[in-house]
Amino acid sequence: MGTKRTGLFFILFLYFIPLLLMAQERPTIVQRPITWNAERERLSLEYLQNRHGFVNPTVHIDPRMIVVHWTDVLSVDKTIRTFNPVQLPGRPQLQKASALNVSAHFVIGRDGSVFQLLPETTFARHTIGLNYCAIGIENVGSARYPLTEAQLEANTKLIQYLMTKYGIQYVIGHHEYQDFRNTSWWKETNPDYLTQKSDPGATFMERLRLNLGMSQHLAVQ
Ligand SMILES: [Zn+2]
Repeated sequence: MGTKRTGLFFILFLYFIPLLLMAQERPTIVQRPITWNAERERLSLEYLQNRHGFVNPTVHIDPRMIVVHWTDVLSVDKTIRTFNPVQLPGRPQLQKASALNVSAHFVIGRDGSVFQLLPETTFARHTIGLNYCAIGIENVGSARYPLTEAQLEANTKLIQYLMTKYGIQYVIGHHEYQDFRNTSWWKETNPDYLTQKSDPGATFMERLRLNLGMSQHLAVQ
């Protein structure tokens, strides 16, 4: 092989190194789609109109923030079974606001496995006031079962990946969502429709934002 050709291959190799490194950053995502049908679409549109106050909404969202949660349910399968029905069973306070079931875009298991339930740009009900612009990531865990190191790593990788795809401005814990009240981000027609949240906790969010190289101060505008 002539040196000219070897040189060309070397240059091509150098060119592909960053691509290979980037490819490694893409996390493994297992598709586990929940029911999306005409009724879920109709209830989502109603939510966007009645709760967020949008006129002529679509179920397509432009993700600007990521909200991290814990499930309070202790398995991936149980979480997916909870989110799968279109209508919300029980939870009267939430039912009064909308019949649409809660859900999220991703669920992360205790071992860090990532499952996708809905496309990232499809509306999901997981955070009052912010659903219209937020990707929801649920983590299997609770106050009694704090999130694991594997989940911290998986959230970091998944969010880094999502940040390369969308103009994400905030990564918040569900317990921080009320910081957005009285800002232009907040879109909820009833000022009294609020629930108190503690998931996933300050320690997890501090560590996650540190991994992401993001400021701890939300600096909401
Ligand atoms: Zn939550």
